[in-house]
Amino acid sequence: MSEGHWTAAAACGQGNVSPDALFVEGSAQREARSVCLSCPVRLQCLADALDNRMDFGVWGGMTERERRALLRRRPEVSSWRNELVVADSALLVAP
Ligand code: SF4
Repeated sequence: MSEGHWTAAAACGQGNVSPDALFVEGSAQREARSVCLSCPVRLQCLADALDNRMDFGVWGGMTERERRALLRRRPEVSSWRNELVVADSALLVAP
């Protein structure tokens, strides 16, 4: 699946949900990530964010702080998609 394809199905680009709503700061990210819970491309989004070390905002249901912590715990992972498929529920934490 290409990146352009999964972003077209992003919940944060549909209806009245603006992607900008996910680029809030601090604790507001924990509330903002609720839109990701029903997103059909959450796994792809999170894998891309982790692979590309996206520093800011909510991606794939994780705050920037959560992603940093995960990357610190697993520095050896260079491609997150397979890791997330295997570890699904443990990594895709709900708010
Ligand atoms: S997981 Fe969240 S940030 Fe990623 S595309 Fe879906 S709604 Fe947007």
